Amino acid sequence: MLKNYILKTTLDKKVSVIICCYNEEQNIPTVVDAIHENLKKTGYQYEIIAVNDGSTDNSQVLLENMATKDPHLFYIEFSRNFGHQNALKAGLDNASGDCIISMDADMQHPPRMLPDFIKKWEEGYDIVYTKRQEDPSISKAKRTSSNLFYNVINFLSDIHLDKGAADFRLMDRRAANVLVNIKGGDLFIRGIISWIGFKQYAIDYMPDKRLSGKTKYTFKKMLHLAAQGILSFSTKPLQIALYLGFIIALLSLLFIPYAIISLISGHVMAGWVSLILTVAFLGGLQLFILGIIGLYIGRIFTQTKGFPPYIIRSTNL
Ligand code: UDP
Ligand code: MG
Repeated sequence: MLKNYILKTTLDKKVSVIICCYNEEQNIPTVVDAIHENLKKTGYQYEIIAVNDGSTDNSQVLLENMATKDPHLFYIEFSRNFGHQNALKAGLDNASGDCIISMDADMQHPPRMLPDFIKKWEEGYDIVYTKRQEDPSISKAKRTSSNLFYNVINFLSDIHLDKGAADFRLMDRRAANVLVNIKGGDLFIRGIISWIGFKQYAIDYMPDKRLSGKTKYTFKKMLHLAAQGILSFSTKPLQIALYLGFIIALLSLLFIPYAIISLISGHVMAGWVSLILTVAFLGGLQLFILGIIGLYIGRIFTQTKGFPPYIIRSTNL
């Protein structure tokens, strides 16, 4: 009786896997095969949603061909490249599973871990996330920039991100719905995951090597992600700007006695260097602070425009 019940609930429930693809035509067949292999073992129904984030290679034709032969495979094609976070949001918005797994399409996130995620979900966890361990084969520059990314975000924002927390995780429908219900674009999904709470479980893992091609996270995209992380979760940079302005204003008071003494002793011209330095320094600082304020205003501007975070060109969902 109990066995039948467990079997029935397993068969009734569905797992969605989202893979975001930006020029991953060399990797897609291998990733999809590996997902099939690992999900079949679990006994759940499942769907694989490949979000083609404006690839310029043959990914779309490949996905369409694969989908005609594979009833589990669905694609969402964007009208252009909207970025990984927006691609993930599109996957979440369209997934129909009781739990949703997101992973990269380059085999760096090992598909063999999917059954472990699902086991933890069955135990009652709402979010199963992963922490990437230091991989000695990854270049020192990439590791240093990644560490810097997490340190800066943790310092400047009101959330805590575990080092190496990537977008390789399982979310129960309840947690995924929180993200689905957030309107607007440029979400920083890892931050939201840390912020929403629920019962979370972390799994350490060692990433595999990228199967083919090179990283799609250019330096510019990484900077953008870091800025999203900070701007969407904190007003600390504005506070820092305020304190800095206050401290510098206080320090500038020290110039008053100096100016008076210079005036009395008749060495007025001698103050030229310090004057120029002060003006340059304060000018730079003001621009910097204006820049910070501008970034926040920019975010308000993009949110109020109400533009969609992504545009779908075609889909077979
Ligand atoms: N990706 C995407 N849109 C982008 C950049 C990346 O959908 O604009 C996808 C990419 O195809 C991959 C995942 O996001 O499946 C992670 O990117 P990548 O492997 O290049 O990042 P890395 O692992 O080097 O940090
Ligand atoms: Mg990768």
